[in-house]
Amino acid sequence: STVLVTGGTGFIAQHVIDKLLAKKYKVVSTARSEAKYAPLLKNFQKKYPDGALTYEVVPEISVDDAFDEVFKKHPEITIVLHTASPASFGYDLPLKDAYLKPAVNGTLSILKGIKEYAPQVTNVVITSSVVAMMDLRSSGENRTNTTVTNDMWNPITWDEVENPMDAYAASKKYAEKAARKFYEDEKPSYKLATVNPPLVVGPQVFDDLVAQEMNSSNEIVSMVTKLPPSTEPQATLPSFTIDVRDIAEFHVLAFEKEKLADERIAVAASACIGQKVLNILNDNFPELNGKICKGDYASADKLEEDMCPKFDFDSIVEKAGGYDFIPLETSVIDLFKQYLAKYS
Ligand code: NDP
Repeated sequence: STVLVTGGTGFIAQHVIDKLLAKKYKVVSTARSEAKYAPLLKNFQKKYPDGALTYEVVPEISVDDAFDEVFKKHPEITIVLHTASPASFGYDLPLKDAYLKPAVNGTLSILKGIKEYAPQVTNVVITSSVVAMMDLRSSGENRTNTTVTNDMWNPITWDEVENPMDAYAASKKYAEKAARKFYEDEKPSYKLATVNPPLVVGPQVFDDLVAQEMNSSNEIVSMVTKLPPSTEPQATLPSFTIDVRDIAEFHVLAFEKEKLADERIAVAASACIGQKVLNILNDNFPELNGKICKGDYASADKLEEDMCPKFDFDSIVEKAGGYDFIPLETSVIDLFKQYLAKYS
């Protein structure tokens, strides 16, 4: 089968494409420009010399007909993985233009493109987020007493958005809602799944493309390295995480596994708290000892228990036929090994 992967230059999308090529799928990817995709294409062609990866330029996903030409040119596409959506911070644009428009319009433009030009499509998978499900604004007991499950929706409305994080969360919720409404209204013959990742951590596919500035989710996890020296418990970053290679695998399982093909696929490996990330780094990277905060080593488990939101995605794991998640320790070690090899 031929799989379309939008946002092909993205952190997660690169791993999705890597998994697809390893499994012998043909892949059509999209990128904003030829210049942006060229280094990636070169690396993928070296790793998979059979020419199974091609790409098309889609400079802006939020225009109505963004993907029409791609579908016209590639009638062989039967599976669509839509990962493109604004996922960084620091845009020089009003929040609505930076997040909401591309997220929602991009999702609708891909679904409209399929409707008009690609009736042969059998499966669509849209990358949503756990921020479409959980209220990031809640704190204290409200946060830790809630168990996030895959039928929840973040109550945030666009009117309540106060900062880029709110805007990102709202954009993911509105985009997923828009996709589900389109699907209910149009009743297409394909199956629609969403993948709703928590914080995604791990290495890049290609060592030589590791950028000095990390992608935003790895950057969030790595912020602990900038904490000042302290022997206090470090309660930053209360969250839960998944390795990028695992979430990429779930994008593939989302269409390969019949039971997941119309699901809302939220999965996570483990809770995460700043102190735990610091412990992993201090244990495994002697070159960082003395340079990064130590905090209070022994407090990690209790902090995690007290501060992190809980999750229960067992029903999805069961539908996947079980799954062994890469532990946070491996994700953090692999991320930093790769990064420090280039920038230490
Ligand atoms: P990246 O920023 O690495 O990837 C996002 C991709 O989308 C890039 O290829 C980007 O292209 C493209 N894109 C964004 N906006 C537009 C636009 N307006 N027009 C065309 N292309 C656009 O982020 P991730 O890989 O982390 O995220 C991928 C998906 O996963 C997103 O939908 C994100 O919301 C979701 N997600 C990510 C999580 C994480 O922790 N990383 C957690 C939960 C969900 P360019 O770089 O050229 O702008």
